[in-house]
Amino acid sequence: MAIAQEPPTSFPQAGNVAGVSQEEWATQFAAQSGAATRLGPFESVHVFWLAGMSCDGCSIAVVGATMPSVESLLTGSLPGVPIVYLHHTALQIEAGEAYMEPFRKATRGELGAPYVVVYEGSIADESKAMALGGYWSAIGEEEDPARPGEARQVPSAVWLKRMAPGAAAVVAIGTCATWGGIPAAYGNPTASMSVQDYLGRDYRSTLGVPVVNVPGCSPVGDNFTETVAALLLFLQGIGPLPEFDDLGRPAWLFSETVHRSCTRAGYYEEGSFAKEYGDRECLVEVGCWGPVVNCNITSRGAINHIGGCMNVGGPCIGCTMPGFPDRFSPFYKAPPGTFVSGTASKLVGSFVRPLRRITQRYGNREVAWDRTGLVTSGWGAPKGPTFLDRLVHVAYDRMRRSDTRAKHI
Ligand code: SF4
Repeated sequence: MAIAQEPPTSFPQAGNVAGVSQEEWATQFAAQSGAATRLGPFESVHVFWLAGMSCDGCSIAVVGATMPSVESLLTGSLPGVPIVYLHHTALQIEAGEAYMEPFRKATRGELGAPYVVVYEGSIADESKAMALGGYWSAIGEEEDPARPGEARQVPSAVWLKRMAPGAAAVVAIGTCATWGGIPAAYGNPTASMSVQDYLGRDYRSTLGVPVVNVPGCSPVGDNFTETVAALLLFLQGIGPLPEFDDLGRPAWLFSETVHRSCTRAGYYEEGSFAKEYGDRECLVEVGCWGPVVNCNITSRGAINHIGGCMNVGGPCIGCTMPGFPDRFSPFYKAPPGTFVSGTASKLVGSFVRPLRRITQRYGNREVAWDRTGLVTSGWGAPKGPTFLDRLVHVAYDRMRRSDTRAKHI
């Protein structure tokens, strides 16, 4: 039932990470590993959630996920997806050694089921803390080899190092784990780094997959649960290997920019920009980096398709990007490129906006009102079409009706 074989030492990289197509990868994977014996179906899969330098925001985001929800993963109610046994420091009922035992079994290869390691937060240089007699982030205790009979805390990073080689997948959740994030910002004293920095570029899970990255500060919870569900379907042998981009992000979730799905993109196109927070227009001049940031929060929302930065008035500060935060700070200042693109939009918008208002006024009237001269709305008196409106629309209607495409509709 478990992934029993030793992983081949030279799996090809997954997805398009090294320019290898899904099909090529699957063919090579099957040839090298005998994939049929390595994939499911499995009744259950363990997910070990390790926490490093984090604020727990990723955990909060994930427990709010709805598509799919954590509950549906834990109860095995998603068709084809095995039951997930989640080992999470904040959500677990067990404590002490009862909590730690599955971790130890996993490192000894005695779990009896495949497992996925999820890492939240960045990884600090524990030797700096040890030099001061402490630790940055740890889970559980064990005997200190340097002082027999005495216990020591086991850093989360040590668990990661022990468990990653036997994991079906290692998933870094949140920007701290994917790229280092805030704890790794310029000037930090902890030498914090991301999971892939820590495990190295040659790391591969037992399925031959490098570290999977689901960034965001905090990430969209659904992005994470959907990625895990996709990985589990692959592990079951009934789903394709999810496609990842060159940065190990789920390609279908991070291929578009924030800007392309933003509810304010129409304002940008018409050159209408917010001057202060709370304004309804595009936020680029108050510091939005959305046109260059890969993220789906504007289309997916924060929780249950509701909320999300720009949707509720917050400019994008690039939190999903590897360069965050140093390359996007100081926050809430217009990005330098805004001058060129914003000026172009304003110029175009100054022509387009008045033309659209003409058509809007015209389309906002019942045909009968203009034919009879009687406006039946009791809600006021919609302005009648001006002479210019009529002139424009005589020409406009002619053009519309002479359009060859329109004749076929
Ligand atoms: Fe683009 Fe940001 Fe403006 Fe939205 S608010 S349209 S993401 S620049």
